[in-house]
Amino acid sequence: MTLPPEMTPLRVGYVALAGAPNVGKSTLVNRLVGQKISIVSPRPQTTRERVCGIVTDERMQAILVDIPGILATGDRFNQILVDVAAHELAGCDIVLHLRDPRRPLDPADEPVADLIRRTRRPVWLAWNKIDQFDGPLPPAPPGIHYEQVFAISGMDGRGLPELMAALAAALPPGPLLFDPEQVSDRDLRFMAGELVREKLFLHLGQEIPYGTAVEVEEFNEAREKTFIRALIVTEREAHKRIVIGAGGSMLKRVGQEARVEIEELLERPVFLELWVKVRPHWRRDERQLRQMGLKPPDSN
Ligand code: GDP
Ligand code: MG
Repeated sequence: MTLPPEMTPLRVGYVALAGAPNVGKSTLVNRLVGQKISIVSPRPQTTRERVCGIVTDERMQAILVDIPGILATGDRFNQILVDVAAHELAGCDIVLHLRDPRRPLDPADEPVADLIRRTRRPVWLAWNKIDQFDGPLPPAPPGIHYEQVFAISGMDGRGLPELMAALAAALPPGPLLFDPEQVSDRDLRFMAGELVREKLFLHLGQEIPYGTAVEVEEFNEAREKTFIRALIVTEREAHKRIVIGAGGSMLKRVGQEARVEIEELLERPVFLELWVKVRPHWRRDERQLRQMGLKPPDSN
């Protein structure tokens, strides 16, 4: 018997993407939703907040949660990331643990593996970046019970049809949680800020570590060109000077490249204004973290 389309039972659920910084979580989300919604960087810990990708097809709606990368440092900022990650893992239907087969026992994986061991959700293993790997895959690392194992590349897409088919079979039946057209739960304003942050990561050297954040202060679509004013926050005066660059060259470059991508995202012309401001020790100050939208998850 074939059900009419409106009665087709759909599988709907949350899939947490967990893994060491840099293992390719954001790249995979972007690939699966077919659009750049999570910023990608060759440097670790670029993803700071929950970003959902939503994949809807005739079988399912899989809501992908990009778990923030976790470092084994004890500062307040990192503790918030750990709390957020634990909270996200507990709320999902399946945890997909991404690992790099070239480094099957990577110590960078430990903080996240530790969190995964403590969840009671089903965990799957995905060996990622297999486009760069030859030979037989390593055995699944010990200590975590993986229900299923996949070999994928978020970069070139291999292995993804098998992964998606398995998800479509495993997610619980339920009504759609998002409009089928929607690919992210983040709004365009947030994504515009993320694109600015991505260009900063791309162009700034090691001098600017993780003490740089972007806040979108104004996002006005009422004009002919969308007007966006974003504030780049640094921890030090010296960092501010580097962000601005000689004669404003760095800021100009970041602004131009970000604007082009924001225009693609919005499908309309954009006027992007960037400001740089020093806010010493913002990462240690909870009030400032909250102001920037980085808050610990609700404890209820
Ligand atoms: P995340 O920190 O886990 O979100 O990792 P990203 O998605 O930002 O990727 C980190 C780096 O790995 C970037 O330079 C990506 O281009 C690269 N990368 C991600 N996925 C793949 C993959 O499947 N194959 C290869 N060769 N590189 C990848
Ligand atoms: Mg990421």
